Amino acid sequence: MQSPLLPTYARADISFERGDGVWLTATNGDRYLDFGGGVAVASLGYSHPHLVAALTEQAGKLWHTSNLYRIPEGERLAERLVVATFADVVFFTNSGAEAVEAAIKMARKYQSSSGRPERFRIITVEGAFHGRTLATIAAGGQAKYLEGFGPKVDGFDQVPFGDHEALRAAIGPETAAILVEPIQGEGGVRPVPTQCLRGLRELCDAHGLLLIFDEVQTGVGRSGTFFAHEASGITPDIMAIAKGIGGGFPLGACLATREAAKGMTLGTHGSTYGGNPLAMSVGNAVIDVVLEPAFLDGVKQAGLLLRQRLAELKDKHPGIIEEIRGEGLLMGLKMRVPNGDFVKATRARHLLTIAAGDNVVRLLPPLIVSDAEIAEAVRRLDAACSDLEAQGAEPKEAAQ
Ligand SMILES: *Cc1c(COP(=O)(O)O)cnc(C)c1O
Repeated sequence: MQSPLLPTYARADISFERGDGVWLTATNGDRYLDFGGGVAVASLGYSHPHLVAALTEQAGKLWHTSNLYRIPEGERLAERLVVATFADVVFFTNSGAEAVEAAIKMARKYQSSSGRPERFRIITVEGAFHGRTLATIAAGGQAKYLEGFGPKVDGFDQVPFGDHEALRAAIGPETAAILVEPIQGEGGVRPVPTQCLRGLRELCDAHGLLLIFDEVQTGVGRSGTFFAHEASGITPDIMAIAKGIGGGFPLGACLATREAAKGMTLGTHGSTYGGNPLAMSVGNAVIDVVLEPAFLDGVKQAGLLLRQRLAELKDKHPGIIEEIRGEGLLMGLKMRVPNGDFVKATRARHLLTIAAGDNVVRLLPPLIVSDAEIAEAVRRLDAACSDLEAQGAEPKEAAQ
């Protein structure tokens, strides 16, 4: 029988029935070391006792009430996010795309409620990924996601990655905001240098634009700080988050300063499920762990160790790996062989990795990964490199 599932995903022929920490167990009993984390989602790994307890306790009390009533767990999570970030207010969503969508609407509304309704355009960066709704595929600007879905939603202007002059030139009388990922995730783990983030902040301030960061992938400890932009010392006006904040439960949020959010008044936006008690309980539990005093230092240390070991691996296999990129536990291997081949080779060694744009393979292990698990992952990566070499993998370009 043909699958009744819409065939939009290229699924590997494995399914998992349980997970513990950084390990997944397949239905046939095979164990896999997961350095994909469900695409940066399983921030605390699988079956984390504190998360399981929070979810099951809430499940026994109340699942859903709607936003017609106050949701104390949500008020608490919003308060904690506000205390820990630049933001003054939070809107909860169920996904990353919805969080970015809220950010886009908020930026436009800010300009219109400031007496500048003509300013609705948002500048974005080539290689960006912001989600799969009609507006967020327009923001991401990738032809493969836009093709065939009718007229592209108007109001997005793309500039090449790292081209400050093009960005400056793209600012016009209709520009409302600039939207960037501090580290491009799907685009191939491409960090935006600190001086560029600072340059964006200055441009926004000089032109009355809002600066929006999409930290859906980089946020909640992934980069070694609570949010990736913190390392640069500059702050956005609006920020979209998701993935890691739910630890596997669908949860996103749009955070903003009170000023940037001033147009989002009663009735201007909403979501049936957004901020639902189950999601809020899990979000609070994730924050309990990530904001423990030593946790982020641990992520930083683990990231440094991983980077060091990956650099050694690159030196050992120059025909396979071209470059190591990333911050914290968001690392990318720029490959000299097709990245899909390498993902398959690591999977054959029971290590899960994830392909990204620019022929990169991403490593996004749970933030609780141990030094021993990093060493084990590097052994498996090493074996996968050797497997490809033994098969006579043809580098995309000759190694020097
Ligand atoms: C994953 C991702 C999104 C979209 O999130 P969904 O939950 O799939 O809608 C948006 N922006 C970035 C940077 C992402 O990595």
